[in-house]
Amino acid sequence: MLAMIALCILPLFGANDTKQEDMSISDLACSLKATLEYDPLVHAGTITKEGRSVRFAMDVPYVLLDWTIVKEVPAPYESATSLQIKEEFARTVQEFFEIKSQISSRYLVKAIVIDPGHGGKDPGAIGEFEDFKLQEKDVNLSIALRLADLLRLRYPEKTIVLTRSSDIYPTLEERVEKANKIELEETEAIIYVSIHANASFNKNTKGFEVWYLNPNYRRTVVDERTAKEKGEDIAPIINIMLEEEFTTESIILAQKVYQRMDRIIGDRSPARGIRAEEWFVVRNAKMPSILIEVGFVTNKAEALLLSQAGYLRQIADAIYNGVCDFIEHFEQ
Ligand SMILES: [Zn+2]
Repeated sequence: MLAMIALCILPLFGANDTKQEDMSISDLACSLKATLEYDPLVHAGTITKEGRSVRFAMDVPYVLLDWTIVKEVPAPYESATSLQIKEEFARTVQEFFEIKSQISSRYLVKAIVIDPGHGGKDPGAIGEFEDFKLQEKDVNLSIALRLADLLRLRYPEKTIVLTRSSDIYPTLEERVEKANKIELEETEAIIYVSIHANASFNKNTKGFEVWYLNPNYRRTVVDERTAKEKGEDIAPIINIMLEEEFTTESIILAQKVYQRMDRIIGDRSPARGIRAEEWFVVRNAKMPSILIEVGFVTNKAEALLLSQAGYLRQIADAIYNGVCDFIEHFEQ
């Protein structure tokens, strides 16, 4: 996403009632001392000020205030040099930032769902060597349990949920159900962290990866109630705006965890990249979601590391730090 803080050129509309020319959206952001982000690829952007936001899109006659309130405005349009807006658009944005918000405008992470992959009858990936054997399900669970303990200590006010806390096998539906049944206020969010270990036919392959939900995956993030309240026509627009936000947050969560892991285990396990996929466990979940492949159980050196409690603790610590970094960013 392209971020910029515009240079001030024009004053904002004055109190006089003379006919005003249309203005560029960057001039508006500037006069409000707000930050403007605009992504020319999707023709949508966000004006942000003091943690509050106005989401807009080219040729769309609505803005989304603080990711919750939809307001009708004259649609921004493209001119040769900039995105132009009508006075009414500018006024709506100005008033929104001026008037104290009636709703609690800060987003809070209400819950963190930790999903240790596989379990019970499903061992996941298996590393078998002459002198020892390692099952993915045990690696995942060990990391997840410590991660949950650390997060519970740090955030006693948040709900920390494990999709399993022993060697049992919940189905995919049961795992997602656990996340989806957490009740949320409009400004609360859930983070979903799935923990896995990798396997390869190539015994030399090793390293860790962090995956996030593919941005092309079209999710329905606006619930039926919103659709009914706002009308069938608006729902898809809000949907696209929100969806993009959740994808962005997933990428940021992935980056934070990836950076921390690289710092802590990168000397022993190569960082293989941040990746995007569509198979994700939490397809229908309205939440920033990642999946971590902590290493390859099929590589003997890495399998040895992954069978050491101390190494698994380091991985848990790294994920924990990444999640904390994300929460700090999200709740700021
Ligand atoms: Zn797995």
